[in-house]
Amino acid sequence: MRQPIIAGNWKMNKIKQEARELAQSIVRGFIAGLPLPEVVLCPPFTALEAVGGVISGTEIELGAQNAFWESQGAYTGEISPNMLLTVGCKYVILGHSERRKYFSESDQVVNKKIKAVIHAGLCPILCVGERLGEREEGRTEAVVGEQVRGALDGLSQSELKTLVIAYEPIWAIGTGKTATPQQAGEVHSFIRGLISDLYDEELSEKLRIIYGGSVKAENAGDLFNQPQIDGGLVGGASLQAESFLKIINLYPMGD
Ligand code: PEP
Repeated sequence: MRQPIIAGNWKMNKIKQEARELAQSIVRGFIAGLPLPEVVLCPPFTALEAVGGVISGTEIELGAQNAFWESQGAYTGEISPNMLLTVGCKYVILGHSERRKYFSESDQVVNKKIKAVIHAGLCPILCVGERLGEREEGRTEAVVGEQVRGALDGLSQSELKTLVIAYEPIWAIGTGKTATPQQAGEVHSFIRGLISDLYDEELSEKLRIIYGGSVKAENAGDLFNQPQIDGGLVGGASLQAESFLKIINLYPMGD
């Protein structure tokens, strides 16, 4: 059994005080002890410590939205995996389509970052997904397959125990368009099969593959009901406690 995971990607939103307040509201509404999914909050770097303080002692985990591959040195503006560990992070989102688009992150760059993050003891959430044109040309599996292979190149099975993959079709991120549960389920099955081919079935069955792209309380239940979907990476709907909690709370009700 894979424990579902729901991560809130706050992107470049919330100054420190706002982030603290949002985390406090989420903690207040979080029903501890129920068989809930694992919940991860990923605020901007400047709010990591504040949010970490609020969720400390709860079951909620802290995640960052990026990391650099070197551990220290003359890399102006970058943050190392070790720095993230010292402020309490467990997870790091890597290869998000916005980083691929605005910061030209290639699969090779994502690969270096995943290696550094894993070797530091953090859990990577690797984002992959196709553009609308690529889907329309029938190239979804080719694109997603190349991203997965590129990101995991040179990593052994034992190094991937904590890996989470987020399938995020680019045409669904922040657009209000969501992949249908069937569309998402198909790509998740493809990714699981690819991991089985590249490594083995045991790893592929344990791997958590989550869906991202305009997840809201209204559509999350149908998505999460797909056996291949192990939770969600939530952007816009994670910026308000009420909508984020509604998504989390879909799980104990069984739908
Ligand atoms: C994301 O940030 O990864 C995301 C899926 O955003 P949204 O939920 O707003 O589409």
